[in-house]
Amino acid sequence: MNPFSYTRAEAVDTAVSEIKTGEAAKFIAGGTNLLDLMKENVMRPQHLVDITHLPLTTIEETESGGLMLGALVTNADTAYNELIDKRYPLLAKAILAGASPQLRNMATDGGNLMQRTRCYYFYDTATPCNKREPGSGCSAINGFNRIHAILGTSEHCIATHPSDMCVALAALEAIVHVTSERGSRTIPFADFHRLPGDTPHLDNTLEPDELITAIELPAKGFTEHNNYLKIRDRTSYAFALVSVAAAFDLEEGVIQNARLALGGVAHKPWRSSEAEALLNGNSPTEETFRKAAEAVVRDAKGFGSNTFKIEMAKRAIVRALTQATESGQK
Ligand code: SF4
Repeated sequence: MNPFSYTRAEAVDTAVSEIKTGEAAKFIAGGTNLLDLMKENVMRPQHLVDITHLPLTTIEETESGGLMLGALVTNADTAYNELIDKRYPLLAKAILAGASPQLRNMATDGGNLMQRTRCYYFYDTATPCNKREPGSGCSAINGFNRIHAILGTSEHCIATHPSDMCVALAALEAIVHVTSERGSRTIPFADFHRLPGDTPHLDNTLEPDELITAIELPAKGFTEHNNYLKIRDRTSYAFALVSVAAAFDLEEGVIQNARLALGGVAHKPWRSSEAEALLNGNSPTEETFRKAAEAVVRDAKGFGSNTFKIEMAKRAIVRALTQATESGQK
């Protein structure tokens, strides 16, 4: 590990002023991904600003009927929070499908958004990787790419975003609150993570000096028909090969307000407005679900070891939607 300096901030304004050194400085909270990356020499910050003492640890009601999750609430405290459990069961299910209990006790909600890809080559500093070292090449495209993306890829990177929680947040249309010395702003969840394009070293649209302070959940939580389905190589502590967050309302047997987001298939949680439109106004039948699934993967592209994900994604979508239908039946 490279030498670095360390300070602990006690207030948000101190934290954002401490980060002024730009990309050489990083915030650290739970550290469940950043410390691994530092030990592997993948990330080499010169300065760490510890934000664990900031007052961002509450879950509060918003005036618009939603909830505001402080960025430092742990994943475990979020998943087991009574309000989340009752009003946003999709989010609780997704969080509990991720990582291990020990990691969920340490990892924060803001940090969950910031975790980096688990592409093997990204972690192996002996191999070319455009995300780790821009312009060096992508070892995965013609290499072993079983866990890699099938949607939204570029010739520069085919990595996936590893989060489960973020897939549910995408479906729930969460809003990310961020701040810096230049002021505060909000970012719709769909705009927070990026596709790789020709700048795969950028995972998201956060500026280097911006701090996530909260994640806002809109009032609509889909308490009846929701499901998070995660397909992985083993039943515990594995990243998704394919995951699906599905939620909708059923009004007199007709689907309304459909939300469908996939994990494990792209550089960001993948939503398909076309698939959602195909679901809305139709009955929750296997035929309806298959049409939506076909729309999601129409432009999917496999790279050899991961081509199986195209069929897997279709089947997972149909199963997730079927289970979401059943989840609301008393
Ligand atoms: Fe690097 Fe992305 Fe290629 Fe993986 S897929 S080797 S992260 S450029």
